[in-house]
Amino acid sequence: MSFTDLKKKSKNRKELLQKQLEENNKRGSDTYKDDRQWYPERDDAGNGAGIIRFLPAPEGEDVMPFVQRFSHGFQGPGGGWFIENCPTTISNECPLCTRNSELWNTGVDANKDIARDRKRKLSYYANILVIKDPKTPENEGEVFIFRFGQQIFDVLQGAYAPEEDALGDTPEAVDPYDFWEGANFKLRIRKVKGQTNYQQSEFEDPSALFDGDDDALKQLWKREYSLQEFVGKDEFKSHEELTDRLNRVLGESTGNRASSAEEAAQKEADEEGPTNPEENNGSADEAATSEGEGGGDAFSKYKELLEDS
Ligand SMILES: [Zn+2]
Repeated sequence: MSFTDLKKKSKNRKELLQKQLEENNKRGSDTYKDDRQWYPERDDAGNGAGIIRFLPAPEGEDVMPFVQRFSHGFQGPGGGWFIENCPTTISNECPLCTRNSELWNTGVDANKDIARDRKRKLSYYANILVIKDPKTPENEGEVFIFRFGQQIFDVLQGAYAPEEDALGDTPEAVDPYDFWEGANFKLRIRKVKGQTNYQQSEFEDPSALFDGDDDALKQLWKREYSLQEFVGKDEFKSHEELTDRLNRVLGESTGNRASSAEEAAQKEADEEGPTNPEENNGSADEAATSEGEGGGDAFSKYKELLEDS
């Protein structure tokens, strides 16, 4: 190969390598590169927005309009990431959760910090229609899966069972997933002191989607994605596979490094000082952000997404 060719192919090679890295990262971080999923692009300050409509359960899955899934995302002392769906989601035993319980039960603060950092996180998945996406208008009118955390889930639950306000008025209960009587959701994402915040998000007044045009709604319904897939058996690795992965991330695959890896993590935790459980999300988020941004590390980026919601 001539030098000119070498130079010409340089960009391609980089892209290829990048692609391969992404493919590798996909194992375990299945939602990181998933075209079905939507999340608004955020500006440099970490702010983003969009208007979405939560949709009812897809055809053939008329149970709940959302599913819940637990996952783990943490970086081992050697720099490797453990990003896996947690099998407790489907009532199977999880080697990491078992280990976390053991660490927690020692009562030692440093161990508790480690357990906290590695704990399972709950995500919700629902179908949405994107009504407005200022940064990526081509998404408007498309159906996506939206993954969200407790903050947004609480807002959705609040629509079902609204609380009395200070003036004694109680807003009318709304099923936010309903085609005819639901409401559009203004998603507002802000970065406040390093933490992602959804508190300025709110529902618009209830309105029938597509002005209640049943033909259009039926077509939309048929475009929805399966939610049960997210909690299907093949979304979760076997106990053996997870144990193996966990040992590798903790640097224990050689057998004799077990204690040193644990010690390193513990030392790290000691140096950071005690963590307030309330603030834990924030500090973990900050850590992920500072390592993730610019580094191009897909895993830490994914970790950030996990922490965010
Ligand atoms: Zn687990």
